[in-house]
Amino acid sequence: MGNRVPGLDTLTQLCEVERQVLVQIDEDEVIAFHRGLVQIPSINPPGDVRDAIEYCRLPLAEAGFETEIVAMDEIMPSLIATKGGGEGPVLAFNAHVDVVPIGERSAWTFDPFGAEIHDGRIYGRGAGDDKASVAAQTMAAIAVARSGLRLKGSLIVNEVADEESGGYKGAGYVTEQRFFTPDFVIVGEQTMNEVALGEKGSSPTAITVRGRTAHGALPWEGANAIEAMSEVIVALRREYWPVIAARTHPYFHPSSASVNLFEGGVKSNVVPDYAQIYVDRRLIPGEDPAEVVAEIREIAINAVRDVPGVTVEVEEFFPGAAATLEAEDSQLVTAMTGSNGKLGLSTSLRGFSMATDGRFWAQQGIPTIIYGPGDPRLAHVPDEWIGIDELLHATRAYALAAVALLA
Ligand SMILES: [Zn+2]
Repeated sequence: MGNRVPGLDTLTQLCEVERQVLVQIDEDEVIAFHRGLVQIPSINPPGDVRDAIEYCRLPLAEAGFETEIVAMDEIMPSLIATKGGGEGPVLAFNAHVDVVPIGERSAWTFDPFGAEIHDGRIYGRGAGDDKASVAAQTMAAIAVARSGLRLKGSLIVNEVADEESGGYKGAGYVTEQRFFTPDFVIVGEQTMNEVALGEKGSSPTAITVRGRTAHGALPWEGANAIEAMSEVIVALRREYWPVIAARTHPYFHPSSASVNLFEGGVKSNVVPDYAQIYVDRRLIPGEDPAEVVAEIREIAINAVRDVPGVTVEVEEFFPGAAATLEAEDSQLVTAMTGSNGKLGLSTSLRGFSMATDGRFWAQQGIPTIIYGPGDPRLAHVPDEWIGIDELLHATRAYALAAVALLA
C-alpha cells in the first residue's frame, strides 16, 4: 500500500540517521496496530485497561524494550518500556489507553469499536483520544529500536491508565512513585500535530448557599436558597466573567468559567434550604488556583449580602492546578518543532485548553510538552475519528524528536 504521507525521498532536510530511523516505520503496521488498539474497549469507567496495556507491551518487548507494568489498582496498569539506559538524557513518551464511554449507541454511524476505515480516516471511540498518540508513540519507539541507532540516554514509552478519571491512578501514580525520572516528557493528546507548550490550569470551585425551609404556601417564613443562588450566578456572569475573559495569553484561549452543575431543592411545595453549584474555572499561566477561589468567594458573599437568612460557602471542589508552560526556546520544544519542520508540518506553538497527564511532570519541574495527532473537538463525541495521514505524520515526528534528543 504505502505512502499515505509524502515519501522519504521528498523530505530533503533529513539527515542520514533520521532517514535510517524513518525507513523503519511501516505504514501498514502503524495502521493495523492502531486499529487493533481501538478494537479493545478500554472504557473508563470502569477503566480496565489490562488488555490494552498488554497489547502495547508485546511489540515493544519484541523490539528489545525492557517492559515493566506498574499498578496502584489491579485493573489499571500502566506500562513503562525502556530502551537504552546509558549515560544521557531520558526522554519519555506518555499517552493514555483508557477511553470515555460511547454515549448513545444510536448517535454513532460507525461501530464504536470497529476501527472501520473510510476516506482515509479510522473511526472509533478513542481513535483520536488517545489511541492515535499511543499508537504513534509506540510505533515511533519501535522504529528507533529497529534502526539500531545507539542512544545516548534512554527512551521510555509510558502508556497509562485512568487519564479520563483524572489520572491519579495512572500518570499520577507513576510520577508520585518516581518509577523513572525523565529529562523530557512528550505527552500525546490531540494538538493536531502542533507543539503545545503547556496546558490550562483549573480551579474547580463549589458554591453552597444555605437558607431555611418553610411550607411553600408560607414562603416568607423561609429563606430560599435557590433564589439566593440565582443572585450568585447573575453576579458571577455580570461581574466576573467579563473580568476573566480579559485575561489573555498569546498561546491560550482566555481564562474562562462555566457553571456546570446545579443541585438544590427539597420538594415542589417546600421552600429550599440548600443549593449548590459547581464552577468549572480554567486558568491561563499566571493565575493562582487559591487566589481564584478567593475571587469567586468575594463575589458570592457580596451577591447574597442583602438576602436575609442565607449563608454562602465557597470552597475548592477538588485540588486545583496552575497552568503549565514550557519555555519557547527549550531543547525539548526545539527538538519537536524541528522535527515538524523537517516533515513539512506546522512549526507554530500553542497552548492546550484541556487538562492532561502532562501536569504531573510539569509540576515536578520536568520539561513537558503536549503533542499528538487528532482534533480535540472530535474527542468524547460520536463517530470520533483520526486521519491516517496525521497518525503517520505523528509517528514520524515522535521518532525524529527521539533522534534529536537522544542520538
Ligand atoms: Zn486524552
